[in-house]
Amino acid sequence: MAEFAAHLNQGTLNAQPTIFEIVAQESMASVLRPAVIYALKVLASSNPDRWGWIWRFGDELHLCLEYILQSHYLRNFEGSISEHFYGLKRVSRTPNNNADDKLSSLQRYLSLLMLVVLPYAKLKLDQLFERLREEYVTGSLSSHPARKRLYFLHLKRIFIYLYPFLHCAWESIFLCYYMLYIFRVSGVHSPLLHIVGISLQRFTQRDIVVHNLQRSLPTVPYRQTMVKQILAIPCSVTRLLSSLLANGLPIAVFSLKFIEWWYSSDNRSTVQSVMQLPVPSPPTQPKPAQHGAQLPPHPAQCPLCKRVRTNPTALSSSGYVFCYPCIHKYLNQHGCCPVTHLPSASKQLVRLYVDIVN
Ligand SMILES: [Zn+2]
Repeated sequence: MAEFAAHLNQGTLNAQPTIFEIVAQESMASVLRPAVIYALKVLASSNPDRWGWIWRFGDELHLCLEYILQSHYLRNFEGSISEHFYGLKRVSRTPNNNADDKLSSLQRYLSLLMLVVLPYAKLKLDQLFERLREEYVTGSLSSHPARKRLYFLHLKRIFIYLYPFLHCAWESIFLCYYMLYIFRVSGVHSPLLHIVGISLQRFTQRDIVVHNLQRSLPTVPYRQTMVKQILAIPCSVTRLLSSLLANGLPIAVFSLKFIEWWYSSDNRSTVQSVMQLPVPSPPTQPKPAQHGAQLPPHPAQCPLCKRVRTNPTALSSSGYVFCYPCIHKYLNQHGCCPVTHLPSASKQLVRLYVDIVN
């Protein structure tokens, strides 16, 4: 809970978070999906026959995982994972029956809908738009002019035409809310939160004390019967998992953010300078043996027959180039390079196609 330390002395007077905290937590929330998808991709590529289906249903698996995590955080910390990491919580703007600002059950369900289902639906719409636009550009969208498909074809064209405008309007509304929030005109930074009557606040000192007290409570009270202790085991396991999630997930997300920064385009030049080794210098020319074949005066000549090479073939042990018949015969007889006398075999011959013209 070190992330709360910055707000310990601020009390409830400055409970409203700044736009920087809002943007930071939203940026962090967007990292989870690529991380899960990447992990699934690694698993699927390790054994495509067994785990290939995981990659195909990556978005749906991420949806299930995020539902479990976000519902856990909403239930225990009154906020999403990223909001909790930045010491923020969701409070109700409409007083409930207990005259406090805790979320009602309906607000908690709507929060879950906004955090999990809406991003999934938006992602699927984006993917559909990209697919249909590609089909439209390549002309394959109208390649099946059957009458029964004409209705869907019109729907697809309307969708391709309208979706960018709807997307623009959606983003513009969010931008307007950001501006209103920056200038303190509105206490809510998101239209969705506005609709369901929720705003974000920083954790207060009291929240942190209550949270720490809950964590320090013994999971199984003393002087209980064996049956009650056994029945309390699932509760203990849940609390242990909760603790692991609360402490381990922020560390994992921080690591992912660091990796994202490390491989980002802004940092690419630095990474390349560190990761890339210099190009090694070319190998030195092997020295001709004292009693070896003399090198011809012209580089196009064969060192063995002294004529212009036919079917030029390099010997990889030394790098010198000969006619293929000449060097093949020489290797079979002597088993070494004619020029350097380095031990060589016919399998080290490499045919060069420099004289082939298309
Ligand atoms: Zn030759």
